[in-house]
Amino acid sequence: MKGSSLRPFFIYNSLSRSVEEFTPLDRDCVTYYSCGPTVYLRQHLGNMRSYIFVDTLKRALAFNGMRVRHVMNITDVGHMTSDADGGEDKVEKTARVEGRSPQEVASFYTKLFLSDLKELNVETPDVVCAASDHIADMIALIKRILERGFAYVVRSGVYFDVEKYRGENRVGRLSRQSLDEQHAGQRLEHAPDKKSPHDFALWVLNQPTHLMQWDSPWGRGYPGWHIECSAMAMRYLGETIDVHSGGIDHIPIHHENEIAQSESATGKPFVRYFVHNAFLVGMEGAKISKSAGKFPVLEDLVEAHVNPLAFRLFCLGAKYRSELVFNIDAVRAAERNLYYLYGFTANARPEEEDSPWTQAYRERFHEAINDDLNTPEALAVVLEMVNKAYREGDHRVWGALREFDSVLGLRLAEQLEYLSKLKVPADIQALVEQRAQARRDKDFRRSDELRTQLRARGWEAKDHRDGTSEYVPRWN
Ligand code: AMP
Ligand code: ZN
Repeated sequence: MKGSSLRPFFIYNSLSRSVEEFTPLDRDCVTYYSCGPTVYLRQHLGNMRSYIFVDTLKRALAFNGMRVRHVMNITDVGHMTSDADGGEDKVEKTARVEGRSPQEVASFYTKLFLSDLKELNVETPDVVCAASDHIADMIALIKRILERGFAYVVRSGVYFDVEKYRGENRVGRLSRQSLDEQHAGQRLEHAPDKKSPHDFALWVLNQPTHLMQWDSPWGRGYPGWHIECSAMAMRYLGETIDVHSGGIDHIPIHHENEIAQSESATGKPFVRYFVHNAFLVGMEGAKISKSAGKFPVLEDLVEAHVNPLAFRLFCLGAKYRSELVFNIDAVRAAERNLYYLYGFTANARPEEEDSPWTQAYRERFHEAINDDLNTPEALAVVLEMVNKAYREGDHRVWGALREFDSVLGLRLAEQLEYLSKLKVPADIQALVEQRAQARRDKDFRRSDELRTQLRARGWEAKDHRDGTSEYVPRWN
């Protein structure tokens, strides 16, 4: 138990549309499935907001003494250019355009994705599973749905019978809308042999131009997009899982369909807490994006000399359920806070016990995190604590800071280790000594001049009340 006291953890459940106390089936193994990327393009910063949210939620559960088993899929087949089965397979489309095989495309973008996660200090899930490796699980699940009478086979594929599952006047569990309302404005793929345009494909048949195909009891074909998540979630986490997450765009189709097909197969609740992050918006044509009109990716930030963790901090500065507007200046402002915290680690006292006054900050931090993951409030608490430590010249806060960072994921401990191993170059050391002498002589003009010289060479001076100073490298 890392948190300072046992407190209930609250989270907004899209199923009940209310903030609920989170009580997993087993605190030693919270089962968590999050929708992963479709690997046909580099994931943009909007997608990254979603993975940062997932990671923060997992860390918050761990902070509350729970162990999490996390599974994330990689969609490398069956996700059409429209969420409602229409258009071309996204991975195959890129493969055609780039003149590569779908497998090459998927493996290339999966690698990039995993490396972006590392840069953002997003912990790798316990299981990262590719859809194409789990075709047998999907076929087995489709069989169960067929046996229970909620699907039918026609020439163009095996379809989920949405109207039968929904029954008279039944609205969607997540969207709370009728099928017509739910699908209004969407171009539903019309296969002539489908019973209803609302039915969605579990398995697609008779598409000879499709590159990725597998044998099945119904003929050669490939899975629909939604079935992969149900099949892999159940394979690794069981038939009822504690938490399932994704962006809000998944509410009306993907997650609604996942619930329908899973529950009709098992007769059990599929998910206990559905959680959704709001979007990162306003990125079209953002100044830093290399190609106009495209959402920026992490690489664009790095090329603009922005630390990826500044983007993480920027995301944490907003509640996950609020839309967040991308703005490079705001990301740079977050970076200043990041370096403020890094600067402080140079003054941290890891070997000393925390001062008693840190307890009040621990309580407030814990309360904010457990209040539906109120990260902006939690960050305010952290900054306030560090301000106080500086102001009062009492830096004994490392224990609290390290625990807070177990949720925030800003790599403060790594920073501390880095600084402790850092060798100060001899010329810098000479300036540092001259400055210490100037301070002893109370020659503050000289001391300020030397500070400016150090800064120009990439080193920042932090002076303490007791007359000592620390020097930390600047990052830009
Ligand atoms: P996709 O690869 O399109 O399936 O998206 C991967 C994840 O990113 C999903 O959970 C989406 O809901 C989420 N997502 C997509 N666009 C955004 C955005 N602009 N802001 C936040 N999350 C997003
Ligand atoms: Zn999914």
